Amino acid sequence: MKTLKSYVCEAWYEAPEGHVPLRDPSTEEVIAQASTAGLDFAATLNHARTVGGSSLRKLDVAERGQVLNAMSKALHACREELIDLSMKNTGVTRKDAKFDLDGATGTLAYYGHLSKELGGEMILDGEGVALGRSARFWGQHVKIPLRGAALLINAFNFPAWGFAEKAACAYLAGVPVIIKPATSTAMVAERCVEILVEAGVVPEGALSLVCGSTGDLVDRLGSQDVLAFTGSAETALKLRSRPNLLALSTRVNIEADSLNAAVLGPDVEPGSESWNLFLRDVSLEMTQKTGQKCTAVRRILVPADRMGEVAEALGERLGAVVTGDPRHESVTMGPLATADQLADTLEGVARLSESARIVHGTGERIDGTGAAAGKGYFFGPVLLQADDARKAQAVHEREVFGPVSTLLPYDGKAAEAAALVGLGGGCLVTSIYSDDQAWVEEIVPAAGSWSGRLYLGSTKMAAQAPSSGVALPQSMHGGPGRAGGGQELGALRGLDLYLHRVALQGSRSMITRLSGARGDS
Ligand code: NAP
Repeated sequence: MKTLKSYVCEAWYEAPEGHVPLRDPSTEEVIAQASTAGLDFAATLNHARTVGGSSLRKLDVAERGQVLNAMSKALHACREELIDLSMKNTGVTRKDAKFDLDGATGTLAYYGHLSKELGGEMILDGEGVALGRSARFWGQHVKIPLRGAALLINAFNFPAWGFAEKAACAYLAGVPVIIKPATSTAMVAERCVEILVEAGVVPEGALSLVCGSTGDLVDRLGSQDVLAFTGSAETALKLRSRPNLLALSTRVNIEADSLNAAVLGPDVEPGSESWNLFLRDVSLEMTQKTGQKCTAVRRILVPADRMGEVAEALGERLGAVVTGDPRHESVTMGPLATADQLADTLEGVARLSESARIVHGTGERIDGTGAAAGKGYFFGPVLLQADDARKAQAVHEREVFGPVSTLLPYDGKAAEAAALVGLGGGCLVTSIYSDDQAWVEEIVPAAGSWSGRLYLGSTKMAAQAPSSGVALPQSMHGGPGRAGGGQELGALRGLDLYLHRVALQGSRSMITRLSGARGDS
């Protein structure tokens, strides 16, 4: 059995005690253990801030972009090994493992390429402006890397992409990172860091890894540090209320859970391209990574007169899903990642059943194809249906982090659909399927304020659409309200979390020269 190590102060640390087990979710076999007992978190943070910060700031933006490209290549070179490890540790299918890993390398490469857009060495924020009677007294906003370190706490479901998308932005901005993966799936993140360290592609001190509990690390974060968190709303609330973070105004970004909605427009006819796109997206978003995706569709809003046809068509697609050990050739959906996830999903479906009835699936644990009877955290897709969307309170409140979604009828009006989207309290993504321009124009502003991203499915984009749940680095990822209120990615906007904005006021010539200056160490 493997004992996971942390990587701190340029050395691997193996804890002597206090280990928690990591299991293969298909077999329940213990495959690794992790602990941070005895780890010196003060030294870890200090090393990242001083050595890591300094070595990153010595590089200009283009050089930091090259670091990201080298990271992407080093991880891509080990793609097959990482896919196998991900299938074993997280229980995902090969396809789903690729989604995580290719997402990681793709996002690193995207930001590597984007460094070219930044040009100079200091990042300018907009145009300069004359502040006096003439241009001699000049104002210019510039963005400067924070002098601390970024603690990247991630959820279990994206062990590679989770840290890579955050690190890409932090590094390009010039801020070192301490990666803290979810313990249950930390094998993938640990191996990724090992690959990067062995490849020697990351500047000294810029990369640390904590496998296991964070000890007192969060309490040590100061005003120049960043906490970038992805996980449940419950953990997010605990973390963001830490007195030191509040007292020192430490930057905190939260990506939490979300009751994303897919809305079928009243104009979409069965069999049309938009109809097929809607069905493809919803069934994929319910089952990809066994529904353990923050952007998965949890609520399906359907015009009441189309409900029967949608339930039948979706049921057919879900009926084709084969749940089991992802190493078995016929399996298309793996188990849930942990025993806790299974217990939470069972409890969640029971809660949803208070206001909706199951129309596809059992809502019970099942035996998996290719797995021993009684072993593994297997749970088949479950589709529920509510008769009254407004009364189905649990459906708008309880995120079931598994292959579970609920059909909700509405009257076909854009205003009502948007109001139902809003009952979720804030989503990462809302997908809307319609070719009716006027209807879309009505729903976009009304549903948009509840959503981080609006995915507008239509006949014209169907052939190129990746599916609503894909967080592309060009577009912002994050959502208002219960989704955490955070913002990640979105091209250069993704760097803002790690940059401090300063208003420079002075002579135009001096400010112009400063804008081209290399940051000090
Ligand atoms: P979680 O239980 O909240 O854990 C998330 C992370 O926080 C893990 O790394 C966990 O470490 C760590 N953590 C827990 N308690 C902590 C504490 N007191 N101090 C410091 N770190 C702590 O969430 P999860 O079960 O891994 O992930 C599922 C949830 O994440 C779902 O609700 C999902 O919607 C959400 N999610 C959101 C997004 C998004 O982008 N918005 C993406 C993916 C997932 P340990 O594993 O060591 O406990």
